[in-house]
Amino acid sequence: MNMDVVVSLCKRRGFIFQSSEIYGGTGSCWDYGPLGVELKNNVKRAWWRDNVHLRPDMVGLDASILMHPAVWKASGHLDHFTDPMVDCKACQRRFRDDTLEGLAWVHYCPATKGNRFTVAAGEPCGHCGARRTLCPECGKGELTPPRQFNLMFKTFMGPVEEDAAVAYLRPETAQGIFVNFENVLQAMRLKLPFGIAQIGKAFRNEITPGNFTFRSREFEQMEIEYFVNPQETRDGRPADEAIHEEWIAERFAWYQRYGIRPDNLRLREHAADELAHYAKRTADIEYRFPMGWSELEGIANRTDFDLRQHAKASGKALTYFDEERKTHVVPYVIEPSAGADRSVLAFLVDAYREEEVRGEKRVLLRLHRELAPLKIAVLPLLKKRPEIVALAQELRTRLARRWVTVYDDTAAIGRLYRRQDEVGTPYCLTVDVKTVGDQEKGEGGDGRVTVRDRDSMDQIRVPIAELETVFDRLLGEGDWAEVAAAYPRTTA
Ligand code: ATP
Repeated sequence: MNMDVVVSLCKRRGFIFQSSEIYGGTGSCWDYGPLGVELKNNVKRAWWRDNVHLRPDMVGLDASILMHPAVWKASGHLDHFTDPMVDCKACQRRFRDDTLEGLAWVHYCPATKGNRFTVAAGEPCGHCGARRTLCPECGKGELTPPRQFNLMFKTFMGPVEEDAAVAYLRPETAQGIFVNFENVLQAMRLKLPFGIAQIGKAFRNEITPGNFTFRSREFEQMEIEYFVNPQETRDGRPADEAIHEEWIAERFAWYQRYGIRPDNLRLREHAADELAHYAKRTADIEYRFPMGWSELEGIANRTDFDLRQHAKASGKALTYFDEERKTHVVPYVIEPSAGADRSVLAFLVDAYREEEVRGEKRVLLRLHRELAPLKIAVLPLLKKRPEIVALAQELRTRLARRWVTVYDDTAAIGRLYRRQDEVGTPYCLTVDVKTVGDQEKGEGGDGRVTVRDRDSMDQIRVPIAELETVFDRLLGEGDWAEVAAAYPRTTA
């Protein structure tokens, strides 16, 4: 599938807009619109519930974005958080040296009187056999030798712009957890192994951002630092290695639990020469994005690197007292580090379907019901009947106390259904003439409304008094076929 289709749907239906668009946009910064903010909140809420509330061994944290500059010295970010950057001497475009081979390149081919071709990434020219040496975008300029470029955004704290007050926007949320290790341990009286989770903004001055929200300069991370006693073993293996395996399996299953198709997920082990300087082992969960397999989440064994570094730099003991062995230990850390924005993008891409229904195209987001931005849409079949409109609005107000429910009467019913399908609303509820009856003809209503399922397009008639019970099941653990079996079907 094509990324442009998702980008266009996101803009048209209020999921994601380019930041500062009326001014031409800010490079790789994105704004979540009315539906996008609901979707992203739902992703974060599901992650938080599953990883914090449902686990007895996890607690949460919300650390500040601006931290003491010494944090970034100790963590290695000041010295090592760099990408090799090259500039085109002609067009001044900037590239990451290590991604150049992955770009298609413009070539003025001498074998064809200098005709301009775009050659596929990593391939030689089909006419002259040359490989790329110049700028891939303009095809003319020489590239500078690579320079290391630090990805942290720098700013100044306090009223005076002087070196002493330099601060950085955090490039990852993890360090907020490490520097609070002792605070959380003492306050919560935790026993190893335990984890601290955090969701928050991170900032990276990426050199070649792109692919929609996949690589943004401002983004949100959902990170866990899970602390393990390195002296312990599990089934004869060091505990950190065994627990690392458990987290990889758990996180891999999590995406599938919320609807990602297993064929679109894979694990990729980092090779030894690719491992970060602190990591003993890292496995990435990759998703098959429209531009190819790319990282959705990294799960690293960071060993005791961070706690040791901060202990050394701050002079504070960041250790845990092992009662059993009567020794102080520096815990090892397993870090499942996910991106909220990349997750949202993967859930959107994976949910997107185009189907043909009675000769017409139906666009549908098969989002998991917990992630869908809107849960119920209440639709009046006839806008000109005040009793229908009044009842539909009353039902919206009633259901909105429990679930995100909207009312829409701005088109004919078929159109209204399509609009809800396109944004992934799992259920539509329609109030029609049969519901309210016809006073003039002396006909009473049946007090039932039509409930329509997004995926099967099946419809049932449900008594108004039972709506809460039905949606409790439909938006909870119940499944459509089982709930629908208790009610008459309708095709109207
Ligand atoms: P990449 O190799 O794609 O640059 P990374 O290995 O630098 O990613 P990590 O430092 O492991 O990424 O960050 C953990 C997670 O944070 C990533 O798996 C991703 O989901 C998210 N993330 C990192 N950088 C960005 C970004 N620029 N935009 C959006 N999400 C990001």
